Amino acid sequence: MLSEFDLIHRYFTRPPAADTRIALGIGDDCALLQPAPGMQLAISTDMLVEGRHFLAGADANALGHKSLAVNLSDLAAMGASPVAFTLALSLPTADADWLAGFSKGLLALADLHGCSLIGGDTTKGPLNICITVFGELPSSAALRRDAARPGDDVWVSGSLGDARLALAVSLGELPATDIDPELLALATKHLDMPTPRVALGIALRGIAHAAIDLSDGFAGDLRHVLERSGCGATIDVDALPAGPTIAAQPQARRRAWTLSGGDDYELCFTAPSHLRADVLAAGLAADTAVTRVGSIDAASGLRLRDRDGNPLALTPASFDHFLTP
Ligand code: ADP
Ligand code: MG
Repeated sequence: MLSEFDLIHRYFTRPPAADTRIALGIGDDCALLQPAPGMQLAISTDMLVEGRHFLAGADANALGHKSLAVNLSDLAAMGASPVAFTLALSLPTADADWLAGFSKGLLALADLHGCSLIGGDTTKGPLNICITVFGELPSSAALRRDAARPGDDVWVSGSLGDARLALAVSLGELPATDIDPELLALATKHLDMPTPRVALGIALRGIAHAAIDLSDGFAGDLRHVLERSGCGATIDVDALPAGPTIAAQPQARRRAWTLSGGDDYELCFTAPSHLRADVLAAGLAADTAVTRVGSIDAASGLRLRDRDGNPLALTPASFDHFLTP
């Protein structure tokens, strides 16, 4: 039997990283972070609950990846670079295979981003994974939700809708046989192992005004930016970058799930229109597609248009834990 301390030692403790920003890692009552002069800490927490954010029996390696990815996505949306994270883990049993898979997926993504595991808490209970990430960015460089301005372009990274399509298949809302198996595998990868747009967020410092990461669906998440910034937007729904799998689906489904599918983990950001070339260059530098999908208006509200500019009467739903059945 694995004890709590064996478990932490075996699966989550590694030699201290040679990182001057981390003065002390796992093993004491607290970890110690040392932000560089002129830098601010960016901090965010996300929890993943079995049966709510992932299905029972989900692949442990993918779950380790996704647990950190959704947190890194929040750092990306602020323009912060990852430094460290803590892991609070509630587990029904100390299953060695599960722990090996989970920690492998988790730490592989952490290594990719130079983000060290510096502490956490481990307890027995229903499977629940809570991560807090710490990032850094130059003071006043953050891409805040309240910084969109009328006249800004609205941009989206990568592609939308494929994760929702994969979720629909895994929930039995859509038969898998309706979808090309290779395309379905791609969409499932987008759902299970999202790529946080960290490099893009950093490249957009000093270019973008506002940014948010798309976890609950484009329209609902953009609304948060509009509310915080006190403005509105006009969006060309047909310009939303559809993932390869949803792109092959009927128009109504493609529009609905690119607009409000959820689980995309792309960035939506606004930038002044005279900086279009800089946005495209940031996308290239970060090796991430960026697509212009509309503009910010002074008048509040979200106006949806088709590719010919005709108003679309879609009422996009956004995921809400207490409102969505
Ligand atoms: P405390 O009694 O202060 O809560 P613990 O005994 O829970 O401390 O943890 C001992 C050390 O192991 C601490 O440094 C803590 O941050 C770290 N730790 C506990 N669980 C995890 C985990 N799942 N991942 C990484 N570090 C962990
Ligand atoms: Mg503890």
